[in-house]
Amino acid sequence: MSIVSHLHHLFTPETCQAYIHTLRWKDRPLQCPRCQSLNVGPWGTYHAQPGLKRYRCKEKGCKRTFNDLTGTLLDGSKRSLMHWILATFLLCLSCSSRRIAKELGVHVRTGYRWCWWLRNAALSYEMGRKLAGTVEADDLYHTAGHKGQAKTGGTKALGRQPRGRRKKREPGRGHYDKDRPAMIAWVSRQGGVVIQATRDFTVKTVQKAADLTMQAGSKLYTDSASSYRLITGYAHDSVNHTKKEYARGDVHENRAECLFSLLKSYLRVFRGVSKTNLPGYVGFFQFLRNFHQLTAFEQAEMILYAALDPAIASRARKGEFVTCLDHFKLLQCPMCDPLTERRRKLPGKSQDHLVL
Ligand SMILES: [Zn+2]
Repeated sequence: MSIVSHLHHLFTPETCQAYIHTLRWKDRPLQCPRCQSLNVGPWGTYHAQPGLKRYRCKEKGCKRTFNDLTGTLLDGSKRSLMHWILATFLLCLSCSSRRIAKELGVHVRTGYRWCWWLRNAALSYEMGRKLAGTVEADDLYHTAGHKGQAKTGGTKALGRQPRGRRKKREPGRGHYDKDRPAMIAWVSRQGGVVIQATRDFTVKTVQKAADLTMQAGSKLYTDSASSYRLITGYAHDSVNHTKKEYARGDVHENRAECLFSLLKSYLRVFRGVSKTNLPGYVGFFQFLRNFHQLTAFEQAEMILYAALDPAIASRARKGEFVTCLDHFKLLQCPMCDPLTERRRKLPGKSQDHLVL
């Protein structure tokens, strides 16, 4: 095995620690993560973790100690910072969690958990993104089932007919209950994209999605699907694909089509995703597209910066940034559904998934 294959062993712990220290307190005041007191002072170091700085909350505060990692996503990890930094970088290169686990030499479930957390931290940048100007919209149905939700695989009853590889899909539009949830892409010609994973593609859904995504008074270009025709509140024009009309002067939706082409190849890497996890994957792809002018290193730094914020970290662990969870409850997701309360401990730690 070559030495370069263990790239993360070439970094020194001190360099990584200094980098994380800079990133942790960049643009943030040095304050206690527990009581938010600004009255803190240095309080020694650790033998086992060279470079990790320790602080103590002084008088009038909680008087407890904390360090550079307290309350962040990286807090309490037995793996080194080099593992985390490399994992974040590989995530931005669209690697799957299994691939990352293999390259880093960690367990598959560790890789899955890290990827889920880091993706969620990246989603914090995508909260409340609104598009303005001329917006193109298109819809797509993606086959997504119950991946990873049978306890042991094989012998456990699925409670449904197995979908089977290469099985012909049902004709007509997809639906969440038919294992083909819909996705709607919104692309602004002035920059910025939003992709939403939804249960279905009815007028009600599209209207709600449009209101969440577009600023009032935006111009909307779509294809001739009936759900777009009844949308209110936006100047709307469409091209008719059945009549082989793909562009009429300024009116076309080619950017939205192109975005789906990129999304499909991005999702192929994972060899099928579960429909409950689909919004998370789609949301992370949205982050990658909205910052595509940056290199993977710069994107990784953005994610690490978010992961080092205790407020974002605790929400990212719970998966609260996935769009459907906060205000867009169209997909039956583990957080919205009280029956799946147990999945809050997930992902990764327990294999106790419930079949929805
Ligand atoms: Zn304190």
